[in-house]
Amino acid sequence: MIQAVRGVHDILPSAAQKWARVEATARRVFEAYGYEEIRLPVFERTELFARGIGEATDIVQKEMYTFQDRAGESLTLRPEATASLLRAYIEHGLHVHPKPVRLYTMGPMFRYERPQAGRYRQFHQLNVEALGDDHPALDAEVIALLVDFFRGLDLATPLDVQINSLGDAKCRPAYRERLIEYLRRNSARLCAECRDRTERNPLRVLDCKNPECRPVLDAAPALELCPECATHFASVREYLKQMGVEATPTHRLVRGLDYYVRTTFELTATELGAQNAVAGGGRYDGLIELLGGPPDPGIGFAIGIERVVQLLPERGDDAREDRRPLAFLIPLGDEALRHLLPVARAVRSKAVRVELGYGERKLRSELERANKLGVAWAVIVGETELSRGEAVLRDMKSGTQQTVSLGALTDKLIALGAAR
Ligand SMILES: [Zn+2]
Ligand SMILES: [Zn+2]
Repeated sequence: MIQAVRGVHDILPSAAQKWARVEATARRVFEAYGYEEIRLPVFERTELFARGIGEATDIVQKEMYTFQDRAGESLTLRPEATASLLRAYIEHGLHVHPKPVRLYTMGPMFRYERPQAGRYRQFHQLNVEALGDDHPALDAEVIALLVDFFRGLDLATPLDVQINSLGDAKCRPAYRERLIEYLRRNSARLCAECRDRTERNPLRVLDCKNPECRPVLDAAPALELCPECATHFASVREYLKQMGVEATPTHRLVRGLDYYVRTTFELTATELGAQNAVAGGGRYDGLIELLGGPPDPGIGFAIGIERVVQLLPERGDDAREDRRPLAFLIPLGDEALRHLLPVARAVRSKAVRVELGYGERKLRSELERANKLGVAWAVIVGETELSRGEAVLRDMKSGTQQTVSLGALTDKLIALGAAR
């Protein structure tokens, strides 16, 4: 038997209903906020991610699925969606549309990470990006949208929004230097990963979950925003308050990617006492220009669908019982099958689910199958019924039977389906 590749997972029919519910909620909420769907390829030129995510990030250094195609070109399965989306924005001149241009996309991403519970090498995201505008009200709106998406799912888990400002090209470089200097001075009390990141990606060090590193990191210098960044951040928080969205300012929220500036945010769920990020994002002014586009700012977020599905409460209509077919049509013989084939097709065209036998088995085994399918009705057409132009309609629960003329059978089944 050939098994699935390590770190990927199948979404079986029993779980797919929940996935559909997440996707439908996303479309409904995102579109109410004016976002339009864009569908993107799952692989791109490797240089797009090297430039768009940052050479120094863990993603680009260790986690990408990169390969040469048969023409010798280096391609990479997308590890995230933003770079691809911005590439499409630039390539198709979407920036000529009224700004902000609001786009969303959903689909699989690929990262070569150590597989662990709930973390996969092919995982799925919902992505929202608003491009071409840097007004703080847009930041607040994007965060409100994220919260409203989760509200739309009726999760039982408490959700918490954390927000931070990472400054910009004016105020961050000096902070970065101060932070590197501080981390080097205390490197003896940091883990190997932190020491490695100090040189490559110092802000990311603050994110270390290792308890032995906490004392040093908790005492690390905080970023002092320049007046423009401070005003921007204060406005974002003020607008959030106006909308009734609670967000906790958190200095340690740095996000993994190089390109974030100013507003960053994360949404965490408290589960079994542990806080887990289920969504995160931020502003990336400058990234579009870096990728060869116009100097348009941008802001967006990604939601991990696997995590969201885990948090979803069971709902009645997820259960298999409620997706059972209405009826099992049982022809006895090929002649009866010929009569029932168009009936099944006509009933299905009204979105009523029925199943049809092939006329090759005995009535008893077909009735057993009807039981297993859990249908409400069995429709039996044998030689006797054919000669009378009738079908027998058997109520599977009570065992009572009635006859219906073959001419009226389609309408009868559609009516029963509508009454369900
Ligand atoms: Zn550490
Ligand atoms: Zn600044």
